Amino acid sequence: MLIADTALQNSPATSNSLPAWQLQIKQAIRDPAELCQLLQLPASMAEPAQAAAGSFPLFAPRPFVDRIRPGDPHDPLLLQLLPDSQEQLPQPGYSADPLAEQQLDQPPGFLQKYNRRALLVTTGACAIHCRYCFRREFPYQQLPHSLQQWQPALDSLRLDQSIEEVILSGGDPLMLVDDKLAQLVEQLSAIPHLQRLRIHTRLPIMVPERVCAAMLRWLASSRLQLIMVIHANHAAELDHNVAASLARLSHVGMMLLNQSVLLKNVNDTADQLAALSRRLIELNVLPYYLHQLDPVIGTAHFHVPIERGRQLIGELRQHLPGYAVPRYVQELPGEPSKTPLA
Ligand SMILES: *Cc1c(COP(=O)(O)O)cnc(C)c1O
Ligand code: SF4
Repeated sequence: MLIADTALQNSPATSNSLPAWQLQIKQAIRDPAELCQLLQLPASMAEPAQAAAGSFPLFAPRPFVDRIRPGDPHDPLLLQLLPDSQEQLPQPGYSADPLAEQQLDQPPGFLQKYNRRALLVTTGACAIHCRYCFRREFPYQQLPHSLQQWQPALDSLRLDQSIEEVILSGGDPLMLVDDKLAQLVEQLSAIPHLQRLRIHTRLPIMVPERVCAAMLRWLASSRLQLIMVIHANHAAELDHNVAASLARLSHVGMMLLNQSVLLKNVNDTADQLAALSRRLIELNVLPYYLHQLDPVIGTAHFHVPIERGRQLIGELRQHLPGYAVPRYVQELPGEPSKTPLA
């Protein structure tokens, strides 16, 4: 389960000297009533949201909330973060661990399913609680907390010389403070056979200030090739502040990719997906994956049938250059890569 502040707790900074991004995390909205008031939504929406939140509470950073259209209960950004009473309906075929990640016998924080790339699950914390999250039931409490506890995972990386790319994942790896990330990346950079560092994160979108000078310093100091996969689902997420944070990343040589999840009522029209791709290209970000929703309990109301997804991709191909059409994929347990659907 994701606990939003855990990654920050070891920070020595006091609250009045916190970096701007950490203040944004501390000041994120956790109360559905406050969110409804701020967005001029009927107060009657708050109580069902509170009831539906369960053990995965509302968590919404203000820079992202600022991009939600006030007074619109169907806003595609709002739907990603507001707990919905449909989460509590019985969901046959949906489970806590549809990807069978918890059955893999690997060191804490280390997850390798595919050849030549391995994933470090760095933290359970995130800058937003996405209602469709595929790891909302992941046992994050077993993760390493100190650099010392990371050693078994780092040893696995050191021992397997076939691994070329290390992927920082979570939760959201950029919820860790820069000191910790700098130390971790220094150790990774010292592993000779690693060539690339990939970071999967929603933070440059949720809290653009996260792309701060301290972060750019440890990124630029690594010898590893840098790749970042941001997770935008809708063009309206990508305002001018996000554009500026992505430009800072491009400036240090970061290759920028995007992955989305196909979500009912959020981005399940060709117009919405095309607008997202166009905006991404405008910001120097290549659309990489469009994921079929993983069947995690509580997410069934976001389901879009695969046939509909294929149809949408067909429409995108007619209107966009090939490089702007994301690969429509599904993750199936036991497969050696994501499975293409279109
Ligand atoms: C998705 C995933 C990757 C990355 O796959 P790519 O196709 O290279 O983007 C790596 N490891 C795990 C465990 C994953 O789930
Ligand atoms: S940022 Fe990713 S890991 Fe975190 S809640 Fe959203 S989908 Fe889940």
